[in-house]
This record gives sequence, C-alpha cells and structure tokens, in this order.
Amino acid sequence: MTIYVTGHKSPDTDTIISSIATASLLQNKGMDAIPVKQGEINPETKFVLEKFNLDTPITKTELKDQDVAIVDTTDAEQLPDDINDANIVFIADHHKLGGLKTKTPIEFYGQPVGSSATIIYNIFKMENIEINKSVAGGMLCAILSDTVLFKSPTTTDFDKKAVEALSKIAGIEKPLDLGFEMLKVKSSIENDTAHDLLNRDFKEFSINGKKFGIAQIELIDASMAESKKPALLEEMKKVQQEKSFNTILLLITDVMKEGSEMLVVSDNITEIEKVFNIQCNETNCAWIDGMMSRKKQVLPVLEKKIS
Ligand code: MN
Ligand code: MN
Repeated sequence: MTIYVTGHKSPDTDTIISSIATASLLQNKGMDAIPVKQGEINPETKFVLEKFNLDTPITKTELKDQDVAIVDTTDAEQLPDDINDANIVFIADHHKLGGLKTKTPIEFYGQPVGSSATIIYNIFKMENIEINKSVAGGMLCAILSDTVLFKSPTTTDFDKKAVEALSKIAGIEKPLDLGFEMLKVKSSIENDTAHDLLNRDFKEFSINGKKFGIAQIELIDASMAESKKPALLEEMKKVQQEKSFNTILLLITDVMKEGSEMLVVSDNITEIEKVFNIQCNETNCAWIDGMMSRKKQVLPVLEKKIS
C-alpha cells in the first residue's frame, strides 16, 4: 500500500523537503511512498525545488484510510480534517508534541533540533542509506530556512553538522551564500497581497481552549513590509472575525537585526501585551528584540501565560 508523506498546512520549505526526503528514505527501504502537500508552495520553496530539480509534491488532502507518514508537525489542527481516520505509520518532527493519536505502533522520531530535515538526515545516517544528490541539496536548504541561516535560537550542532555533510553530497561549496539567496527570494514581497503574506506561514493553535493564529514572515529588513502593514492588519482582523480567533499574531522578522515586529489583533490585546511584556503602538505593533522563533519564543510563553 502506498504511504503518503505529508507535512503541515501552509507548507514551508522544511515541510515540503522533509516530505520529499522521507518518501525517498522509505522508498530506499523498499516501500511505496509519495510526498504530498496541504496547500500551495511559497516562493522560497519554489526556488529550492527548481534549483535542485525536485518535483513539486501533489496536493492530497483526503487521507482517510490511507497509510500516512507525517513530518514537521504532530498537531491535528495543522493537518487534513480526516487525519484521525488515517493510518499513521511514521512521524518525524521537531515541534512540541501535538494531539495526534495512532492506531498501531509506529516509527516515531523527535528531536529538539532546528528542522525536521535534520532529523531525516539523522535517520538516513542511522540506517546507513545514501542520500540522493538533489534531495541532499533540498535538505540543506530546508535546514537553513528553518534555522534562519543558523540565527534562530532553535539552531543546534546537529543542524550545522547536517548542513556540512549535505553540502558535500550536493556539491554546494558555500551553503550560507545559498541561504542568503533564499532569503532574498523570500524578501521579495512587493507583489504579494496581504492575504498571501499572512497565509505564507500561518499556524493555528488551541491554547487553553482559545483559538490562536500565529503567522511569520522573515525578511532581510523588516521595513520592507512597512507599507503593507495597514493591509496586513485589515486582513488579520477579517480572518479573526470570520474564523473566530481569540488572537492573531504576525511576526515580521528582521533577519539582519535579529528581532521581530509583532502585529497583534486580539479580543484581549492587554493580555497579549502583558504576556510578551510589550506596549503596542497605535498600529497594534511592537518591536521585540531577539524574537526569531514561533515555536521556541512565542508558543511556550503563550502556553504558560494565557489563562
Ligand atoms: Mn514547518
Ligand atoms: Mn520545521
């Protein structure tokens, strides 16, 4: 039976590449595996897939009764609605444990490293399976993307070692230069609508019974998004009302300054200000120095402090 390998909705480079790499891993072990996606790929991912001649995974959102391998999330909210009716056989993830349940014993790989691709790299190594050159190129990009060129506090030595080894396989002499090229692609947002930008990396969470949406845009320079802020706030308000979110946060991360502007739309903005120890300005926005990571610096704080 075919195993469909999928990551989360609003797929990022790590989710897409880890799906491709996991499918390749499972194929190497004699299984029939196909990478699939839960939404359109972003411009950075498109750049990476083209650079290394990798096929864009097909979209498959119905997984009921299928064998499924999951990468880069264990949150049901970030997977298709019928995920609990699927037969999950494999998980590799680097986030907090979500609420997924399985029917049978599964292969499960979790490590608090910078990207799921790092975990997949470690599995390849453990199983002594050679990584295909194109897949290796994609994987090193996924690691650089998720760790924001090793600047994110989620970065570990495992990520750096994996990039070093993968660069050799892929024949990339200066991986950080390639990472910077990716960042430039990601920073070209002139023609993107507020809707596109908000959805590029949008994740939904249930925190103490409240519905939160947290989005992130990473830019070489946060001021590149300045003119889009009013439209972004409008879009955030619209989504909050339409989908009954308690709060929607948008991090506009400045990779060079290593911090983020946080845009806040919330039923209780005072509570959010207290949680992050910030004071939002008249445009519902506050700069937070050193803020780079949703999973390490936003979610844990919300989980702890939202009542
Ligand atoms: Mn991801
Ligand atoms: Mn990831």
